[in-house]
Amino acid sequence: MIDSLDDLPASYPADCVFDVVLRDGSTIRIRPIRPSDGDGLQGMLGQMSRQSVYHRFFKVKDRLTPDEIETFTRLDYRDRMAFVAERGGEIVGVGRYHRLGGAPETAEIAFAVIDAQQGKGIARRLLQLLASYARDQGISAFEARVLADNHVMIRVFRNAGFSLRRELDEGVYTVQFPTEGSAATAAAEQEDEKRAVAASLMPIFYPSSVAVVGASRDPLSIGGRLFKNILNGDFTGPVYPVNPHAEVVRSVKAYRSVLDIPEHVDLAFIVVPAAVVIPAVKECAAKGVKGLVIISSGFSEIGPRGRELERELLEVVRSAGMRMVGPNCMGVLNTDPAVRLDGQFGPHVPPPGNVAMSSQSGALGVAILDYAAQLNIGISSFVSVGNKPDVSGDDLLLYWEDDPATDVILLYVESFGNPRRFARAARRIGKKKPIVAVKSGRTIAGARAAVSHTGSLASLDVAVDSLFRQAGVIRTDTLESLFDVTALLANQPLPAGRRVGIVTNAGGPGILAADALSAQNLEVAELSEALQDRLRIVLSPDAGVSNPVDMIASAGPAQYAACLEELFTTDEVDAIVAIFIPASPLGADETVVAIRDAALAHHGAKPFLLVYMSAVGAHEAIGDGEHRIPTYPFPEQAAWALAKATEFAEWRARDEGTVPVLDGIDATAARAVVERALFRIGDEPGWLEPDEVGAVLSAFSLAMPRGEVVADEDAAAAVAASYGTPVVLKVVSESAVHKSDIGGVVLNRRSEDEVREGFRTVWAAVPDPEGVLVQEQVAGGHEVLIGMTEDPTFGPLVVFGLGGIYVELLGDVAFRIPPLTDVDAAEMIGEVKSAPLLRGYRGGAPGDLEALRDALLRVSALIELLPEIVELDLNPVKVRLPGEGVSVVDARIRVRRIGGPWVPSRRDVPSEL
Ligand code: ADP
Ligand code: MG
Repeated sequence: MIDSLDDLPASYPADCVFDVVLRDGSTIRIRPIRPSDGDGLQGMLGQMSRQSVYHRFFKVKDRLTPDEIETFTRLDYRDRMAFVAERGGEIVGVGRYHRLGGAPETAEIAFAVIDAQQGKGIARRLLQLLASYARDQGISAFEARVLADNHVMIRVFRNAGFSLRRELDEGVYTVQFPTEGSAATAAAEQEDEKRAVAASLMPIFYPSSVAVVGASRDPLSIGGRLFKNILNGDFTGPVYPVNPHAEVVRSVKAYRSVLDIPEHVDLAFIVVPAAVVIPAVKECAAKGVKGLVIISSGFSEIGPRGRELERELLEVVRSAGMRMVGPNCMGVLNTDPAVRLDGQFGPHVPPPGNVAMSSQSGALGVAILDYAAQLNIGISSFVSVGNKPDVSGDDLLLYWEDDPATDVILLYVESFGNPRRFARAARRIGKKKPIVAVKSGRTIAGARAAVSHTGSLASLDVAVDSLFRQAGVIRTDTLESLFDVTALLANQPLPAGRRVGIVTNAGGPGILAADALSAQNLEVAELSEALQDRLRIVLSPDAGVSNPVDMIASAGPAQYAACLEELFTTDEVDAIVAIFIPASPLGADETVVAIRDAALAHHGAKPFLLVYMSAVGAHEAIGDGEHRIPTYPFPEQAAWALAKATEFAEWRARDEGTVPVLDGIDATAARAVVERALFRIGDEPGWLEPDEVGAVLSAFSLAMPRGEVVADEDAAAAVAASYGTPVVLKVVSESAVHKSDIGGVVLNRRSEDEVREGFRTVWAAVPDPEGVLVQEQVAGGHEVLIGMTEDPTFGPLVVFGLGGIYVELLGDVAFRIPPLTDVDAAEMIGEVKSAPLLRGYRGGAPGDLEALRDALLRVSALIELLPEIVELDLNPVKVRLPGEGVSVVDARIRVRRIGGPWVPSRRDVPSEL
């Protein structure tokens, strides 16, 4: 099926293969056309109606001529490019462009899709991919010639969000639009992707019938437990056990194969040994099954052999247009009464509710469901994604985004498939519903020797924190805290502010709570005299009526009820934490009932958290089933959960800012420099030479001091004299990474003698000097670092920190996923602890913050537009007095050739499954 690599031209972009989910939920493969696709094209033409052929070729024809086939399939993948859409080995659509001779930044495009597959968004996907590809080939505009009655195609262009310029000439429209996506294109792409992904998952969440391949009579086996759970869960459709060795499983007639099932099957669970999974899946494909949940293990988690098997499995699944959860997973659960699908093999079933969960670890999945059941946290749906070669946490996010049953999304993540896609989706979804993720700390030490400052900084766990914060994701490190915050978010409104009122029947825990809240930057609000007077009336004379309100041990149901009534109705607090210690066993139940009733009476008014300090039954959310009150055994947990909810509310309310359009950027010039450098560097990543770095930075209007690389003393003296300012001398060599560490930098050279002496010093500092950079010295200024590194988890990151050479030591840095908005840039600067220095701390000189923000945005633009950059380290950037700007005095940029002529990995991949 796949040509051997030898048959493909060297320029063939072999990595530009995409499995894309279509509007109807099916999947299709899009790949660059190959020379051997002639027959496929011929076959495709046979499946097009006369009208479709006419629209494509402006004439009716039955066959492509050999010349045409040659033209369509022999491409250079640069000036002429085509993608084909393939399903079940047949070509069902083609999109191509060719660069116009007279206008090399413009290319003409054309599309064709067989009639049976029209209306699913194939042309639109082809267009998006072509646009993205063409952009990287320096093509800035597309032109299409469309017959005036080809409404379908005109609609494709318009719906894809491109702004069109149309000219009608003799019944043919010439449509022109930029390949650079606008905000509208991006929004259209995202909406498209979301709908398509959600549709594709419907057979998994809402099957009308299911088969269990490997349903076992053994009640202890996984197949046995799964089948039993589906039956016990009262699934609303028919369930068919498939078992070649049994006539009947649990009183249900069994079938030898899915193919023997007389009715249609939407979803199949596969619980058979790894070696027979693929044959079983092929039968499902033949049966027309649309969704698969593969419980079986023995795939990529066991090593190379398993990886190969998983790749094959995925191939079968994709070519049949199915979606697959797993392999190596514990199943799926949907508590919606419309299906009641308990398709997992664990023993615990949590109550129905509004929390959706996905887990990457199967075993942990069992534990998560157990806790959820114990803590009375209601679940809408649950998916154990296992090895996730197909359905991943990202897909599920898109599904849950618009799932009316889900208000809170929980993720247990070990790795992200496509971090950029995750971040983009999370940012958008967080506006509607909170996402809580357990992502444990990690070290990437050893992944690669981090050469630059920026590289070594990214291994800090703080990167994960910054990135989650940027995307509004609530991060927890432990399962316990996952449930602490979820119980709150799922059942209570978000706080409108930071002021908290505490009610307690014991002084000590009240103080603990107050301390814990303050430690989380929440405010234990001062209560007004009027409110304190009202509290005095309802409480014992010995009670303390300031915050925390200490009702003392004698407080019973009446006091809690009255006091909570006051705190719920006052506008002096934004959230309430009630602490109850059952001091005497008598009356404890009544008090809890009183607390519950008071809280339920005002449900939704402001967040309410109960700290029930007792070793038994203390952690279960109490309530009437629909409205639950999050309950914690210790005040610290409640304080932490409330702090997370507050931060989330603030994130949601904040202005995101925009990615500004910057002037003074010449991406073409910078790209030319990088391309020339890559020619010299070869296929392995390598560092740019100092003059190349200078050219790239200046193409993005990032200011550097004047400088020149010289080879001898005389030249150094001459350059220094021509500047007429103090200069800095720096050795240029392969081996000198941190030049000043080894005496390769001298500062403040004025006279000719000083310059000559300095030249000799730095030249002698390394065994392999190549030259010496004579650079104008920048007077004063704060030293900051601006960098970029590629994190194995998150992709490219922008890093900012203060402290020049001390930056690694201090680790006081902020990270963001590019592109940065203006607000991101400002926040990054404000986020580092030493930021006050830049504002002129204690009489120190302030810095030009506006110029610094601008520099951050320029670096963000640079790495967006030049994906060849894998590492960038501007250290230091001198931030001078307000109005004087910033100056990059030391810069390193590492670049890497990106597979083939195009870059599918990092940017703009429309849908990575
Ligand atoms: P490296 O990072 O390889 O040690 P740098 O070029 O960053 O070398 O120089 C080391 C330090 O010297 C900088 O952190 C900065 O404090 C100072 N320095 C370097 N170049 C200049 C310059 N042009 N003007 C002022 N100070 C400079
Ligand atoms: Mg430096």
